[in-house]
Amino acid sequence: MMEDLKCSVDTCHYWGSGNHCTANGIEVNNMAATQANTSDDTLCKTFKPKG
Ligand code: SF4
Repeated sequence: MMEDLKCSVDTCHYWGSGNHCTANGIEVNNMAATQANTSDDTLCKTFKPKG
């Protein structure tokens, strides 16, 4: 587990107070048509809606 994985997506099942991700691991994918060049080109695949 990453010691300090910060995330502000508070609608995610794995989100914890203080903006911490509580998942044991996450998968991040490239969303760009070719190579990712900015953080906006990446996406957390591990996201799961609450509830
Ligand atoms: S799984 Fe992804 S979206 Fe969910 S809290 Fe962790 S980093 Fe954020």
